Amino acid sequence: MSSDLQYVKGIGPVRAALLRQAGIETVRDLLLYFPYDYLDRSRIIPIGELPRHVEAGNEVTVIGTVFRAETKYTRNRKKIFFLTVNDATGYLSCVWYGGVEWFQKAFEPGEVLALSAVPELDRYHRVQFIHPEFDRLRTKDAEDDTDWSSLLHTGAIIPKYSSTEALRNGGLDNRGFRRILRNAVDHHLGALGEHLPREILQRNTLLDLTAAVRMVHFPRSYAERDHAVRRLKFDELFYFQLLLAFRRRELKGELRGIPFRPPGELSERLLGSLPFELTGAQRRVIGEVRGDMTRPVPMNRLLQGDVGSGKTVVALAAMLHAAENGHQCALMAPTEILAEQHWRSLTALLEGLPVTVRLLVGGQKRKLRGDVLEDLRRGSANIVVGTHAVIQDGVDFARLGLVVIDEQHRFGVAQRSVLREKGKNNPHVLVMTATPIPRTLALTVYGDLDVSVIDEMPRDRRPVKTALRTEKEAAKVFDFVAAEVRNGRQAYIVYPLIEESDKVDLKAATAEYERLQRSVFPDRRLGLLHGRLPSEDKEALMRRFKAREIDILVATTVIEVGIDVPNATIMVIEEAQRFGLSQLHQLRGRVGRGAEQSYCVLMTDSKYAARVLQNATDRAEARRTVEATQTRLRTMVETTDGFRIAEVDLEVRGAGEFFGTRQSGMPGFRLANIVTDTDILAAAREEAFALVERDPHLARSENRNVRREFEAVFRDLLSFVRVG
Ligand code: ADP
Ligand code: MG
Repeated sequence: MSSDLQYVKGIGPVRAALLRQAGIETVRDLLLYFPYDYLDRSRIIPIGELPRHVEAGNEVTVIGTVFRAETKYTRNRKKIFFLTVNDATGYLSCVWYGGVEWFQKAFEPGEVLALSAVPELDRYHRVQFIHPEFDRLRTKDAEDDTDWSSLLHTGAIIPKYSSTEALRNGGLDNRGFRRILRNAVDHHLGALGEHLPREILQRNTLLDLTAAVRMVHFPRSYAERDHAVRRLKFDELFYFQLLLAFRRRELKGELRGIPFRPPGELSERLLGSLPFELTGAQRRVIGEVRGDMTRPVPMNRLLQGDVGSGKTVVALAAMLHAAENGHQCALMAPTEILAEQHWRSLTALLEGLPVTVRLLVGGQKRKLRGDVLEDLRRGSANIVVGTHAVIQDGVDFARLGLVVIDEQHRFGVAQRSVLREKGKNNPHVLVMTATPIPRTLALTVYGDLDVSVIDEMPRDRRPVKTALRTEKEAAKVFDFVAAEVRNGRQAYIVYPLIEESDKVDLKAATAEYERLQRSVFPDRRLGLLHGRLPSEDKEALMRRFKAREIDILVATTVIEVGIDVPNATIMVIEEAQRFGLSQLHQLRGRVGRGAEQSYCVLMTDSKYAARVLQNATDRAEARRTVEATQTRLRTMVETTDGFRIAEVDLEVRGAGEFFGTRQSGMPGFRLANIVTDTDILAAAREEAFALVERDPHLARSENRNVRREFEAVFRDLLSFVRVG
């Protein structure tokens, strides 16, 4: 059904060739070339009303006729392009600071444009648009005589299509696309075959494909458009989940795991002797993990829980369960400090139980390392805690039965699979993360893992109080720190050292540490912790801080993850504007870990925004940067909910960056937004997994079209998704 593009009215051989170059090869491709946006009728306002919208700072759209286009010069001979448009209610001037030559040729008096921007006031307090987005609605002497000014009343919704220079030159600008799509939708919808089985459509109240495509291009109402988009998003997510379902089936079918006996006396003794009562969520998750480990297929589970929610004890329960079954465990942490901390607290918790815990990190003495390796090989060590050193060559296990990976976002996917290969019999794998991945993302990225969530904090916790302060108020902030320290509390002061190799930042942090010790806190014990220190020094510092021999720990982001010192109640973050949102959240998670009220102070440079804007070549970009920073800081003050924070982070940064595009395996969806389309994703996932369960080879006649579509989509997805 890939009928030739030239059958569509308005497409001749030249345009067909241009479209083909742009990847639109068939009528079907054209029909699936969706609008990127619509002219939003609710935001179209008469020019005369613009002054009333300056205050609100929202983007608005006007429809106006080009009245005058002119290039002017600034005092220092820089070119500026001015465009004046009008409607029945007034005149509006629009300004461009770049691309002046192009703009000067681009507009003709008499043509009709839709222009969108946030209205601003110029020097004379007149409303203007700076760099508005524009959309040509009608050329000067176009044959089409739609009365655009009546748009406000007719309720038409106008689709917008993205285009390229080459396409525009061939007459396929926004308007050109609208015209050929009108023809394609009116006469060639038959080129689309339905691929989803009727029952899936019915169960999920989805439009059929042809109706959805018609409505996404030319909706009669926003409700129609939404309905159409829902169906099309479902398609994208469904086929992606189908891929994951196949992948998981493969994993489960091929791999034979180690079915453990149910947990016994040892586990119960430990859980009974904890210094606190488990939360309901911890109990539920321990149950889920135990369920997995008693099955003959390897556990493959992601445990999510906000900082301080108590994931370690879940890992401990799992490790004891393995030990009781005569198997060894490896617990991997992303840093040596954290590995050492885990080792220490496990050793303390397991005191008196017949379980041996060993530490394996980079800088250990040869003799010690040799002993640890020997214990692992012989099977006399039950648990080994370490960093990536645990997966290096030369580490052999007698009977590895469980691998726990703490703070997964720090580990590459590759490391995860190497570790898996270590266990000859496919050990159970539990991946823990405190980066609260929004559930939608977890389903998408880790779609082949089962997910458990600890969504409840220990009862004794009080939310950390967070405040935003400028450098000018530093003295007051440090007074507050001093007062808390007098009351027996401890504090962190963090300096940005985003890359451990950044010498300038390291120097700044060191200098500040010296200044603080000398002239701000002369009678307090300060320590300086950064990633460049030898590991023994780091460990010694952490030990002393934990033992309260240090009052204030000046640190870089090495303390970001996992560190647990409940007596520390103040976190001061210098130059907070330089940190990402989830990083700030992690840092704040170092306090508020006990019953005392804790505080987090975000320090910023009051001139930050002005500086960014001043140095910017691209003003709009700079404004976005400043806005994103403000959103990050405001979010930190407003909420301590890690999931909410992760969602904002995702919105601000986009999914690719959230995970680092490289290892994320993020598919590029055209319509679906995995942050906001949670319910569609859940429905698509359920249907896809159920379908693979019912008909593993998609061999039944009613599923044949699913198979064909899957293969077509899969070709495209291959570049995004790691398969097998
Ligand atoms: P995270 O999930 O960030 O790894 P941890 O496992 O380090 O959190 O736990 C944070 C702190 O809370 C630890 O000091 C731990 O002993 C304590 N803790 C864990 N579970 C509970 C609970 N149910 N009640 C009170 N304190 C708890
Ligand atoms: Mg932890």
